[in-house]
Amino acid sequence: MTGLINAVPTDKPEEYRNVFVFLETRKGAIVKSSLEMIGIGKEIAEKVKEKLVCILVGNDLAPMAKEAGKYGCDKVLGAESPDLEDFKTMPYAHYAAQFISEEKPNIFLIAATHDGRDLASRIAVKSRTGVTADCTVIDIDPNERILLANRPVYGESTLAEILCKNHRPQMATARPGVFKVPDAQDGRNCEKDIRRVRVDPDLIRKEIIGFRPKVEFDITDADIVVSGGLGLGKKEGFQVLEELAKELGGVVGASRPAVDVGWIDRDHQVGQTGRVVRPKLYIAAGISGKAQHIVGMKQSDIIIAINSDPDAEIAKYSDYFINDDVYAAIPELIKEIRKLKGEKEVEIST
Ligand SMILES: Cc1cc2nc3c(=O)[nH]c(=O)nc-3n(C[C@H](O)[C@H](O)[C@H](O)COP(=O)(O)OP(=O)(O)OC[C@H]3O[C@@H](n4cnc5c(N)ncnc54)[C@H](O)[C@@H]3O)c2cc1C
Repeated sequence: MTGLINAVPTDKPEEYRNVFVFLETRKGAIVKSSLEMIGIGKEIAEKVKEKLVCILVGNDLAPMAKEAGKYGCDKVLGAESPDLEDFKTMPYAHYAAQFISEEKPNIFLIAATHDGRDLASRIAVKSRTGVTADCTVIDIDPNERILLANRPVYGESTLAEILCKNHRPQMATARPGVFKVPDAQDGRNCEKDIRRVRVDPDLIRKEIIGFRPKVEFDITDADIVVSGGLGLGKKEGFQVLEELAKELGGVVGASRPAVDVGWIDRDHQVGQTGRVVRPKLYIAAGISGKAQHIVGMKQSDIIIAINSDPDAEIAKYSDYFINDDVYAAIPELIKEIRKLKGEKEVEIST
């Protein structure tokens, strides 16, 4: 756990109730990883028969509060101001901590995005508690109401269960892509308490002058991911993968070494230190299947591996294993897909 732990335990922890989830927003919408937090937060709240309360900080919050209700949130607490339009760590942490101090939640969850990680530790320090970072399994002991926050350690080989017994709220951040987005129900409503606030200018220490998107797609949103590893042998191998991804309407992913050698940008990296994806179809081409990669794709619906080594570890995790050279198998796949689509054959350079 990180954060400043007060040596003195929280007074009367039994008085702390409900599960809080901080909702990250972008351009007027709740980000997907925060919807995932609503899903796991609701599960936990139901186990102890408590409420799921979502925190929104930003501007023009009503539509997002409505959205949170559709996904299963029982109540939204919001701090609203034009000064809070874009994410700013200090005021966002200030209002989240203020809600904690007023409402005394037992549990507080945040998605472990860049902003979420930034925010969680500051909220923990302000609330004099700790935070278990980057959890992949979250549960609750229903009798003691203790959060069972599990996170991978030792290069993903072991799960450590971390308990915060003496301080409240029990905070955790959760790895994006691991938990499922719950089904939204039109017409499902929630209680809303959105307050117009005047932000202390001392809290606004940065000015955002604009946004430039780094990538035009988010690999975690794709239904089909075609990933390449060191087995591609060269940067140009990714062009072949691009062609396959294009035929299938998917995007290209990569193992970390393929990124490290500079064949493709880091935004494409799948795995422990990259993105966690759960597409309908994941194709792993020239990827050996080490634990740090597997953790980022094992929840895909269907996994196809292409590997020249018949004993490659990835075979264990695959629904279909093509034991072949990538440069023989992929052009064949592309040709077959084009035939199925009724397109004429095109020469594929390898
Ligand atoms: C702390 C930490 C974090 C990490 N995070 C990540 C992460 O986020 N993502 C990640 O991917 N890795 C991560 N790694 C690295 C990970 O341990 C592995 O080293 C990496 O996943 C292996 O990448 P690879 O499968 O591309 O390469 P290799 O292990 O070298 O495998 C290449 C595969 O290609 C096959 N091959 C070779 N030539 C061909 C061919 N012509 N046709 C078909 N198959 C061929 C080989 O049989 C082999 O199985 C991390 C490691 C550490 C220690």
